Amino acid sequence: MLAYLLIICVAFFVVAVMLVQLVGEYLFTQRVRDEQRITLELSQHMAESLLLSDAEAMYADAVSLSEGYESRILVLDMHGVVQVDSQSQLNGQRLERREVAEIIDGAESAYGFYVDSQAGNSLFGGDGTTGLYTAAIYSSAGPIGMLAYVSDAQEVYTSMREIQNRIVIWLVVVALCVVVMSLFISRFFTKPIEALNQGILRMTKGDFSSRVNIRGNNEFAQVGRAFNMMSERLESLDRSRNQFVSNASHELKTPLSTIKILIETLIYQDPMDPGMTKEFLSNINSEIDRLNGIISDLLSLVSIDSGEMRLKREKFRLDDMVRDCARKLAPLARERGIELEETVRDAVEITADKSKLMQVVYNVIDNAIKYTPRAGSVHVDMARAGKRAVIRISDTGIGIPEEDQKHIFDRFYRVDKARSRETGGTGLGLSIVKHAAQYHKGRISLWSDKDGTEITIDFPQN
Ligand code: ADP
Repeated sequence: MLAYLLIICVAFFVVAVMLVQLVGEYLFTQRVRDEQRITLELSQHMAESLLLSDAEAMYADAVSLSEGYESRILVLDMHGVVQVDSQSQLNGQRLERREVAEIIDGAESAYGFYVDSQAGNSLFGGDGTTGLYTAAIYSSAGPIGMLAYVSDAQEVYTSMREIQNRIVIWLVVVALCVVVMSLFISRFFTKPIEALNQGILRMTKGDFSSRVNIRGNNEFAQVGRAFNMMSERLESLDRSRNQFVSNASHELKTPLSTIKILIETLIYQDPMDPGMTKEFLSNINSEIDRLNGIISDLLSLVSIDSGEMRLKREKFRLDDMVRDCARKLAPLARERGIELEETVRDAVEITADKSKLMQVVYNVIDNAIKYTPRAGSVHVDMARAGKRAVIRISDTGIGIPEEDQKHIFDRFYRVDKARSRETGGTGLGLSIVKHAAQYHKGRISLWSDKDGTEITIDFPQN
């Protein structure tokens, strides 16, 4: 930052010096041109009087013109001897100046500047700088003399210096403004970038609660808002991942603890009758089945989350698949004393991942059987509705309380934990169902009250 400011200051300094010089040169050249023009005009004016050697007329002209131009006017012959001096001091004297010599040597005009005190022979008086302009006076035969015009150049220098000083002051003011503005602008740019940088650094260290505070409505504020949205999302993902890990560990811990207790009893309790041993072993077996179920559910969710769920699409008859599911679950329904009936109204061919769709329908019918008391009934209905296939699974079960309905598709969510575990539930089934259905552009809706539940799933045919 300091380096930039230094560069700006140096650039300003260089520009200032150049500008001051340019302005000075311009003013000076202008002045010289003006005075050269006046000298030439006066030389032409004096030509006639000089030709007639009319000294009185020349003197009168020189005096009045020198008053008009605030200058000293001299008329010299071609030897450099003063014939007329508006200040009547140098009459008859030879003027030893370069500008005079140049005219004698044939030049039309010449000019030069003197600090009078240095020149030893003051032409204008005072200590300031004097400008001496000469121009040849011509007759038709050639040069017959010259006019010397002496002016006070000090005033030019003074006004030039004044203008230069003014320019310097303005440039210093502008440079200061530029420095202040660059500080302000760089702060405007660096502050939000710094805030974002800090936020990103905090996030890389694992702090997803990091937010940036960039006010306004410019691009930085938009990036800031996008950053905040991203960190909010990451924070909620991080939270749900932690929750998932803790829920999954808890789910796995329960059957493992049961297995451990059963095995310890088998080890330390002797003698144990064979019937009891068999029952313990079959309990261990079903706990292992449960562990297996949880692990395959967890693996399904992991593949859903990582976006790796690949659909193996094929053409198949949905009506056959629904019948198949009902057939597979019929023994379970019978065992629980539940009437399971299925009404397949249309033959529907669909292009989808058969095993995933089967998992969806199977899980929902399985839940309906699990949460319906003995002597209840489960009804599966399938029909075509336009280009969609609709499967409706209704039961006369315990129903889902209204406050739980919006959560039952969440992972590990169970209305009654004890009952769900008893029936071998993990709280993951409906969450997998929802994702698998969504992968097929399917929609799920739920209706439930104390007399039962109805879950409707509909899919596009392809
Ligand atoms: P679980 O493995 O516990 O059955 P799910 O994700 O399949 O997990 O279901 C979530 C919860 O929704 C269940 O624990 C249960 O409380 C409730 N539920 C699901 N289907 C039904 C149903 N047909 N009747 C009543 N409750 C149900």
